[in-house]
Amino acid sequence: MTFAELGLSPKVLSAVTDAGYTTPTPIQAGAIPHAIEGKDVLGIAQTGTGKTASFVLPMLTRLERGRARARMPRTLILEPTRELAAQVEENFIKYGKNHRLNIALLIGGVSFDEQEKKLERGADVLIATPGRLLDHFERGKLLLTGVDIFVIDEADRMLDMGFIPDIERICKLIPFTRQTLFFSATMPPEITKLTQQFLQAPVRVEVAKPASTNINITQKLVKTGSKPWAKRARLRELIRGEGDQLKNAIIFCNRKSEVATLFRSLARHEFDAGALHGDMDQRARMMMLDNFRKGKLSLLVASDVAARGLDIPDVSHVINYDIPTHADDYVHRIGRTGRAGRSGKAFTLVAKGDAKYLDSIEKLIGEDVEWLDGDLSTLEAEDQGDEKPQRGKKAGGKSTSEDSRNTRTRKRKPSASSEADTPQEAKTPEVAAEEKIEKPREERKSAIKASNSKSRARNRDDDAPIGFGDNIPDFMKVPGKV
Ligand code: AMP
Repeated sequence: MTFAELGLSPKVLSAVTDAGYTTPTPIQAGAIPHAIEGKDVLGIAQTGTGKTASFVLPMLTRLERGRARARMPRTLILEPTRELAAQVEENFIKYGKNHRLNIALLIGGVSFDEQEKKLERGADVLIATPGRLLDHFERGKLLLTGVDIFVIDEADRMLDMGFIPDIERICKLIPFTRQTLFFSATMPPEITKLTQQFLQAPVRVEVAKPASTNINITQKLVKTGSKPWAKRARLRELIRGEGDQLKNAIIFCNRKSEVATLFRSLARHEFDAGALHGDMDQRARMMMLDNFRKGKLSLLVASDVAARGLDIPDVSHVINYDIPTHADDYVHRIGRTGRAGRSGKAFTLVAKGDAKYLDSIEKLIGEDVEWLDGDLSTLEAEDQGDEKPQRGKKAGGKSTSEDSRNTRTRKRKPSASSEADTPQEAKTPEVAAEEKIEKPREERKSAIKASNSKSRARNRDDDAPIGFGDNIPDFMKVPGKV
């Protein structure tokens, strides 16, 4: 099948050709003809399948007739995150280069004024995150009664982020006669309910089984100790082990705070890393993403919310530093690699307490994921991370020549060794700084206790020489006047 057979306008076809695309992807072939006819579409597709173009191209074709009025956008696209919204805008710019359309992007973290000006001018395409859209609506800067085409993208993500009440409210503000294009990677019951409520006789286009994983992705589990320093050491070892095969990687953490800590640690170990999490301001997020896309950064540490659905076409590796606690997230995370027909690798660090999460992931994807180098039962005591190895010694007490080699190597260059990269072994400033974070609470407490009791003991012992010891100068022995 070709794009020309889908019913797209000549202007759109010419932009698609210029973008270098010759064959529609399955979601495009399935959704575009119905969307052009004005039907509601329920698209079940993961990111990376070409789903953005499957709504952008027919919308552009339909927008060629008519024009926008002030504060009354003609179309509305809802996205769960600012990055996704910006990405959709890029798609409109790329495929709409032969059109003269006003595009307005309403996302949080940037000023209202510019956005209001764009709305005032009249938007053909309004791309928004739900919260910011409702803010503008409540300020009276926006009317949704002129919306003819309404797109809800990444609906399951909206559900995870608690946006469903906002979406229900927005749906009720848009005329009933609109066309609705609805996309979700998975169809949990809440999403099915939403489609029953707000779509009219939709054409269902499903390009992959819900929650299935891409066959281009090689998945592996990596055993690790559960303590943070053990996980960080394992991660560094894993990255170094991949050598040149690792062109770039997105490293997922479950919590924002972990993103920041891991990013600092990688940077200290001289990795070329950046971070992406929800607390960063919009400019910093965009800059970070841009640097990663352009290859100026090779590792991007990210949280799920920040990275969901991002279109970075050429990611060689995804690493789950934390195993996702929601199995759905596993599918979304590893879907960042192996895009557009390329192959990719997805590694998941698994510690002792992670078994239940691993079970639910394997149940969801319908397969067992292989271990990279043995499962958790093969994890040696010193690798568990519950006890930190001593300088030059394995935790079991044996000192090995390998250890002393590693210690020497690392002293020259902190990032050159992985195995011996435990905080106590190396006293470079970087590692010493990390030690502050990495020492377990109990260990820190007992060290403080020991040092306090030592000094107390010294003060109690009146006979012990203090300060000058036995060489106290005579003038100091003269009794003072009271
Ligand atoms: P999406 O699922 O919309 O995030 O798109 C994933 C990637 O596929 C993007 O980098 C698109 O530029 C690319 N893409 C979209 N349509 C096609 C196509 N027909 N052929 C090849 N690549 C495409």
